[in-house]
Amino acid sequence: MDGSFETFTQDWQPQTSLVRGGLHRSSHQETSEALFLTSGFVYDTAEEAEAAFKGDHKRYIYGRYGNPTVAAFEERLRLLEGAEVCKGTASGMAAVHAALICQLQAGDKVVASRALFGSCHYIISELLPRFGVETHFVDGADYNQWEQAIGDKVTVTFLESPSNPTLEIIDIGRVAELTHAAGGKLVVDNALASPVVQKPLQLGADVVIYSATKHIDGQGRSLGGAILGPHEIVEEKLSNIMRHTGPTLSPFNAWLLVKGLETLDLRVERHSRNAHQIAAFLANDPQIANVFYPGLATHPQHKLAKKQMRDGGTVVTFELDGGKERAFRFLNALEVADISNNLGDAKTLITHPATTTHQRLEEEERARLGISDGMVRLSVGLEDPIDLIGDIERALSA
Ligand SMILES: *Cc1c(COP(=O)(O)O)cnc(C)c1O
Repeated sequence: MDGSFETFTQDWQPQTSLVRGGLHRSSHQETSEALFLTSGFVYDTAEEAEAAFKGDHKRYIYGRYGNPTVAAFEERLRLLEGAEVCKGTASGMAAVHAALICQLQAGDKVVASRALFGSCHYIISELLPRFGVETHFVDGADYNQWEQAIGDKVTVTFLESPSNPTLEIIDIGRVAELTHAAGGKLVVDNALASPVVQKPLQLGADVVIYSATKHIDGQGRSLGGAILGPHEIVEEKLSNIMRHTGPTLSPFNAWLLVKGLETLDLRVERHSRNAHQIAAFLANDPQIANVFYPGLATHPQHKLAKKQMRDGGTVVTFELDGGKERAFRFLNALEVADISNNLGDAKTLITHPATTTHQRLEEEERARLGISDGMVRLSVGLEDPIDLIGDIERALSA
């Protein structure tokens, strides 16, 4: 390994990039991507070290700034997303935080959709205002509210679509237009959809962030995240903040994520097919009050979902009559699906949002987001849907 940054990339189809993108073999000519489990790098001479620190010679210097295994992950995901630059991070939340603060200073304004992952909500409602950033929440599918809150000037807008857990769809292109007209940048948290189901940059977003913990690892092994976007933001504004604050992705986790990307498209396609089958089953069951799945024609924004997403995605949310007591009885009776708050995993996971992921919210805010006590969120895994549907049927009659 010569320590250079060069990566061998070509104009490949997405699935080829997922298997070969960012592959940079060492002098040993290994088949699989090498794991460079090292915190630092050495120099032959003092002059070489001096040149590296001056920036005259681009090479690896220190693990907080860059690592070849992390670079392989970044390049592979960058090719899939079609972004100018990708930076890996230690977790999805490190990605959200860094992607926002690198663009903000006191006096700036952020407008975000209300239905966000809990920790994203915390950053926008509590953390950013402590540093003098003005923040506003809007109902994501109400474009008059976006327009009003954005006004004639905004720095950053932020959204998640489909939303968690109610799977409401926001028109990414429309929010991008409103944002750009007011001189701002749109950041999209695309963790729930995954990079193979939805391409926010192609729809008009400026920056896309991932929790790689979800579908990209997809096997419950590792935390990770990523920020993708143009050079002017991800390189010029973000890279110094990453370098000096250290939300660095570990080489070991990057290696797991590189291997996760190889099978991402295959896995997510199967997840989505299983999810669609389960959503269709639930929609026909009279015991289920409501089924939320963007792939079903009965979803109120099905047309928009079809425009923005390759398929309905991997998550199905539904409501049981009988509130929390009924929902808990159902969860506790499941034998295949596990109770867990993660998603995008090979194992089917189910959660009761009102008492877990969205417990921190005031009851009024939960009601506003449509999160009822009978609502459950199912992250559909890779098991055979026959067993999953059998499990659900059994648990419903418990
Ligand atoms: C899980 C998740 C995050 C946070 O990711 P971590 O890897 O757990 O830090 C952020 N946004 C969304 C939509 C998520 O699902």
